[in-house]
Amino acid sequence: MNFNLELIRNDFPILKTKINGHFLAYFDNAASSQRPLDVINAEKYFYKNNYSAVHRGIHTLSAQATSHMEQVRSQVACFINASSHNEIIFVKGTTEGINLIANSWGSINIGYNDNIIITEMEHHSNIVPWQLLAKRVGAEIRVLPLNKGGNLFVEKLTNLIDKNTRLFAITHVSNVLGIINPIQDIIAKVKSKSTGIITVVDGAQAVMHNKVDVQKIGCDFYVFSGHKIYGPTGIGILYGRKNILNEMPPWQGGGSMISDVTIPNGTTWNSVPWRFEAGTPNIIGIIGLGAALTYIQKLGLKVINERENDLVCYAYKQLSSISDIQLYSPLNNNGIISFNLGKHHSFDVGSFLDQFGIAIRTGHHCAIPLMRHYNVSSMCRASLAFYNSEEEIDRLVSSLIHINRLLKI
Ligand SMILES: *Cc1c(COP(=O)(O)O)cnc(C)c1O
Repeated sequence: MNFNLELIRNDFPILKTKINGHFLAYFDNAASSQRPLDVINAEKYFYKNNYSAVHRGIHTLSAQATSHMEQVRSQVACFINASSHNEIIFVKGTTEGINLIANSWGSINIGYNDNIIITEMEHHSNIVPWQLLAKRVGAEIRVLPLNKGGNLFVEKLTNLIDKNTRLFAITHVSNVLGIINPIQDIIAKVKSKSTGIITVVDGAQAVMHNKVDVQKIGCDFYVFSGHKIYGPTGIGILYGRKNILNEMPPWQGGGSMISDVTIPNGTTWNSVPWRFEAGTPNIIGIIGLGAALTYIQKLGLKVINERENDLVCYAYKQLSSISDIQLYSPLNNNGIISFNLGKHHSFDVGSFLDQFGIAIRTGHHCAIPLMRHYNVSSMCRASLAFYNSEEEIDRLVSSLIHINRLLKI
């Protein structure tokens, strides 16, 4: 399929919005992307025609809604090449997925004196759940540092691993630097030290740019959020290997996750994945996620990836020509370019850009340890999606030049 930018932009109605008198230039896609009409309409259609409670009813509408929801589970399994739909758990998002692993798998497999390895480039949601767990059970957190180039210091991994290492958690793509970690090699390296180490991959910034194949990656868990892949908020995916999920206890109790309830005790659990889905699920979110994946597959991840690579090259070249700009992302990045402009605080830069209708992210990007590595308290982050245009990038660049001049006076 050829890439027709104009047609594609028509799929995203919000791109026609005006902000402070200017057309919106949306460069905050890594925080949350925008939704195409296909997703908006799928949700509307479902509410109008198909909505019902799921899993409980014998009536037709409930059975149909359940079947729609379970179809999306299979679609997700296919999307990341899981070996079965039973390996797909619906969660609120990446954050909840990681907390589920920590609270369920972690609660029975990580104990006193065990250690968990994370990296210096993690999002807080792949740091704090492990810290909470470690504190609770008396385990240790070890950190794989960055090298001078801002990449993971993979050579140091083997020294961090010992016989008490239980889990390794790593991001597939950095949400600050856009660096794509050689995840398959890193996982293989960990597993070669000990096959018993469980590997968790945070895919929140990866799934929307490249084809992800969890079997090829070889990880035990893979997590991502719907709202960063053109789907709704409040829905995310936790993939887990079936044999591992089967051994895990529930982490939240309630309806749907049981097979039988006896009082005062003696309750038994539903099978996987429903054991981990207590309560009424985010039905509309699941339907919207399905529509988002269909939309992406219609365009083709390869086409999306090529388009985004062109945009990244264009943006990187233009941005690096600005005097006083400090770029933190490497040229080879996944659509995320972080920078600071002179000594100006990112909030000042971001507020000025907003006056021109340009939306970027400012602050610590939920990665304070990474900010410390660069000795800054915050950064500006422009994150691209395939629907961004070269013209929008030109506006970003000329506005930054303008702001730099203004702030100097
Ligand atoms: C956004 C993000 C998260 C958290 O995702 P939520 O949708 O807020 O749960 C975790 N890790 C990375 C790398 C992210 O970019």
